[in-house]
Amino acid sequence: MKFYSTEERGLNVDLRSAMLKSLAPNGGLYMPMSIPTFTADDLQAMRHLSMPELSLEVAAQLLDEAIPREVLEDVIYSAVTFDAPVVMHNDRIGACELWHGPSLAFKDFGARFMAELMGYYGQSSEDWRTILVATSGDTGGAVGAGFHGVNGVEVVILYPKGKVSPLQELQLTTLGDNVVAVEVDGTFDDCQALVKKAFLDRNLEHKYLLSSANSINIARLIPQTFYYFRLWQQVKMVSEADLVVAVPSGNFGNLCAGVMAQQMGLPIKRFVAATNVNSVVPEYLESGDYKPRVSVATISNAMDVGAPSNFIRLQHLHGSTWNAMADNLEGFYLSDELTRTTMRAVYDQYKYICDPHGAIGFAALRKHLQEQEVGIYLETAHPAKFKATVDETLGIDCPVPDRLASLQGKTTYKETLGIDYSSFQQWLLARR
Ligand SMILES: *Cc1c(COP(=O)(O)O)cnc(C)c1O
Repeated sequence: MKFYSTEERGLNVDLRSAMLKSLAPNGGLYMPMSIPTFTADDLQAMRHLSMPELSLEVAAQLLDEAIPREVLEDVIYSAVTFDAPVVMHNDRIGACELWHGPSLAFKDFGARFMAELMGYYGQSSEDWRTILVATSGDTGGAVGAGFHGVNGVEVVILYPKGKVSPLQELQLTTLGDNVVAVEVDGTFDDCQALVKKAFLDRNLEHKYLLSSANSINIARLIPQTFYYFRLWQQVKMVSEADLVVAVPSGNFGNLCAGVMAQQMGLPIKRFVAATNVNSVVPEYLESGDYKPRVSVATISNAMDVGAPSNFIRLQHLHGSTWNAMADNLEGFYLSDELTRTTMRAVYDQYKYICDPHGAIGFAALRKHLQEQEVGIYLETAHPAKFKATVDETLGIDCPVPDRLASLQGKTTYKETLGIDYSSFQQWLLARR
């Protein structure tokens, strides 16, 4: 598989350089030059594969010999060590739980695959790489955990002060070793802007080999296609109805992966692009006007993004026309108050605890699902990651899985910086 850039159609790079560079020249994002498709017979043959077996078939098809099959097998079997189970609430609506990985959020799929791939490509190089990543909550934990202890790579994670949950902060700050957490006195967009500037900063080049693990990195999107196939397998066991998937979205990487899976031949009828009040994309789908803006803090903070970095990819995946995108994606957004109402309704009706992000997906389906369709929303994080909100909203004591509970009381390590680029640059230069 080869990649072009959204800023330069003629570019043609391989997976290794697309992954290591993250961002193409002039701020472009890498996109697959073509998306290989499965036939209906291929899909039929894949219906009973296990999660790692299925992931391997999808990856092999997508990457098309970019990596030797044995290596890909190692990467998949090391990275995809947990499942993405579908829990049906009734015969029409269900949740696909993407939080069974180590950091309890779907980003484990992308981060672990990418870490394994970097490990593979890194074997042939002496150079120490630095992964620079901005997080609004979950990316940092997944990337930190995925790369912790990986040889030849350090991770620098920027997160907005006071805007991630206490447990999310512990996930970032308790790893230590090759994982450095930087608290920025600003918003997620400020963190993302600092990261983008650093990538274009020539002054850093003599000291750093920078890579990104944000969802702008194409290597993270690839493994996110796997669970759409897994979801489809499970739905097919119980229903022949047309499949609609609601994707709680922030930077829209998850939705891009879904559309890629669909273009590989997976029969998804359409998607619902669901957000909180940071509703730039739903508004675009409605009006055709794209107006990025400053993000607003909400209780679904991993989706507090005012200028989604993967919007350009969504456009390219739809031939850069509004019509095609609006045909395939329905927009939906929800306030914090109605998110809480939805969490209560799901709990009362189905005894199921939704996290605030998943709840927005549920509400999106309740509004948009039509007769003769079956709808799955992505439950993007474990509810215990947002324990304060969940407990307060539902009046319960949400159980915390061991892998999260054990972080309490551990030593934390963090740096604190402002939002101006020069101090970030000085700090980076001074530590080498
Ligand atoms: C990252 C994240 C999202 C948003 O995903 P995108 O790919 O950025 O759209 C939604 N929910 C949770 C819990 C997340 O961590």
